[in-house]
Amino acid sequence: MALQTLTAQHPLLMNRRMAARLRGNDLVSQATFGLTCSCGFAGEDPLPAAFPDLAPLSVAEAEAFLATQCAPDVRRRCPDCAKAAPVDAARLFLWSQHAGADVILERVNEVPCWRSASGNPPLEPLSREHKSVKAALADQLLRAAGFLVALPGGADHMSLVTTAAALLPDSALPRLAHARFALVAGDEATALESLRAAAGSADGSAPACRQLGALLAELALRHQDGELLNRALDWLDQALSLDPGHPGTSLVVGRLFVSTGNYADALEHLALASAEKELALDADHLRGVALLQLGRADESLQVFESLAERHPEDLDVLRMRAWTRAKSGDKTGARAELEQLAAAHPEDEETQTFRALLEEDEDAAPR
Ligand SMILES: [Zn+2]
Repeated sequence: MALQTLTAQHPLLMNRRMAARLRGNDLVSQATFGLTCSCGFAGEDPLPAAFPDLAPLSVAEAEAFLATQCAPDVRRRCPDCAKAAPVDAARLFLWSQHAGADVILERVNEVPCWRSASGNPPLEPLSREHKSVKAALADQLLRAAGFLVALPGGADHMSLVTTAAALLPDSALPRLAHARFALVAGDEATALESLRAAAGSADGSAPACRQLGALLAELALRHQDGELLNRALDWLDQALSLDPGHPGTSLVVGRLFVSTGNYADALEHLALASAEKELALDADHLRGVALLQLGRADESLQVFESLAERHPEDLDVLRMRAWTRAKSGDKTGARAELEQLAAAHPEDEETQTFRALLEEDEDAAPR
């Protein structure tokens, strides 16, 4: 058998546990493979393969997928000698939002086996009918739908959501996915209906409360609807009380406060989100805007200077750095920065707008 013994300390399992806090159900499924190479290597290649669009509609389909990955003619690169080596075992890690842990499908000696990475003892075998296996499949269908909807050609992501909802009739997550896709398609009536249905089963689940709050906030801002806004804030409050300081929730709340002019309250949430590397660009940009609106132009300039160091190609950041420079009293420096930007990107109309605004009226913030 060419796989490392699976323990809770398996490196990929540990990495995925950490990444899941930020990505939630967007954590892409990965697989590792056991190889036996002619060079003498026999073991698990630690480098995983990713399967974002995997959409097994049943337990049998998931098992069949892994079987094809281990078929006799399949070869993968040996981590020792880089030659093509036959695959004799595999492990598929499916993040289950519902279990808050990976559900793992192993295939060793041509025998599939499901395992739970939560549970007690950890990594216990699961029957194929176990509710965790069903939930992991449903979560995977929702992930695949999110991946497919972004691809041109319009794969049938809605049918995956419907299958997921049938697997998990009591969960808010399939309904929230349904609402999100309806919003993307411009169908607000359907989105609102799905959000109403999701609200019936979101209580007590931080990811569901967060998604519900974020989607309601999007609709509230689109229509300047105060009642929707309050409902959004209630759900986000519940998400934060279930999972305090969650960076993703903090970013949603911070952005909502900036959009509604509540700049002072936004700062604390944005600082929490900014501590997470993947969210720092968005969080710091909003923090800079909030500081500027609060009349703290010098601090805002510091934020955009630091952002410009980390993202020297980001035109939004560079324009805002120039703008806050002007607001903190250095109009000449700001003008020079915008001229430089305009010379480097003559096609960029936004930079021209900033230049005009700078000359006209320094108090007219462009956003
Ligand atoms: Zn080799």
